[in-house]
Amino acid sequence: MDEKRMTVDLRSDTVTRPTPGMLDAMMSAEVGDDVFGEDETVNKLENKTAEIFGMEAGLFCPSGTMTNQIAIKCFTNPLEEVICDETAHVYRYEGGGIAFNSSASVRLLYGDRGRLNPDLIEPHINPDNIHYPKSSLIVLENTVNRGGGSYYTTDQIAPIYHLCRLKGLSLHLDGARIFNALVETKNDPKEYGDMFDGISVCLSKGLGAPVGSVLLGSKELIHKAKRVRKVMGGGWRQAGFMAAAGIYALDNNIERLAEDHKRAKVLGETVGGLSYVKSVMPVDTNIVIFELDGHYKSEDFVEHLNHSGIKCNTFGKQMIRFVTHLDLNDSMLEYTFEILKKIH
Ligand SMILES: *Cc1c(COP(=O)(O)O)cnc(C)c1O
Repeated sequence: MDEKRMTVDLRSDTVTRPTPGMLDAMMSAEVGDDVFGEDETVNKLENKTAEIFGMEAGLFCPSGTMTNQIAIKCFTNPLEEVICDETAHVYRYEGGGIAFNSSASVRLLYGDRGRLNPDLIEPHINPDNIHYPKSSLIVLENTVNRGGGSYYTTDQIAPIYHLCRLKGLSLHLDGARIFNALVETKNDPKEYGDMFDGISVCLSKGLGAPVGSVLLGSKELIHKAKRVRKVMGGGWRQAGFMAAAGIYALDNNIERLAEDHKRAKVLGETVGGLSYVKSVMPVDTNIVIFELDGHYKSEDFVEHLNHSGIKCNTFGKQMIRFVTHLDLNDSMLEYTFEILKKIH
């Protein structure tokens, strides 16, 4: 076994390293001081991303967390309420930022693998009554990380959009993996621009850029967002080196996400056939979440795989998450299957 040992990193689609082509693009980027609005490569990335989704403007930020938190700050006032699924990244994995940055409360709903619908949402939109925080924003995630990479189609989002318009709420998309959803559904990204007031797009997940996310919205939103980014310490200077990686990622790495989805499906099928695996969530995109049999603790399983060079994350007491990405190939997958099948 040792002679064939490989390193396979299934922890996240954030672990990818820039390819030679991406590095070339970064090294030859024209840069300037972005706080003065003078980095042409940043401007190009912002405009390019906005154009894909048919939105007016974009703002390049260091992380998806920052784009989400800026959006929430812009769409709420203190004492108001954000509605999202209980699995939402904005609630679970952003350090309590909604309370800290926006002084807003959160109404958690229990959707279908992280996906909401109008019937679920409507009873939780507060009436105009001083006992209740004012409901002002709905956040959807697409794809849903904790939903095992589940996705919405634009047809499923449309009724939520109509409810928001009817009730006067804003609608934000945590689109950290929006291109995974788009590749799978073949929906037109411009439909997203028509429905959402804000969209966060990550370049550092499946698209393979080292750093960065873009917040999209109206010119008015982005004007306000720039102030919030500054106060969060996110006014960056020659960020064009990073933006160049983002442009390269948009030009080269979207369609290939289908390969990640295919590998994840095979991985899910293999995992489903293992005697010590109790269940596997449906594999819709590039995330495979499965539950181990009662006798196996997820920490022990992760440690065991680690000894064989396979890195992955626990996702709960008996739960494991595998994520496929740009830096995986079929021989790594074969090796993973071999190791998994040797476990009892
Ligand atoms: C990764 C991720 C983000 C943003 O993460 P950063 O690490 O801050 O870039 C936001 N939402 C979801 C669903 C994510 O998976």
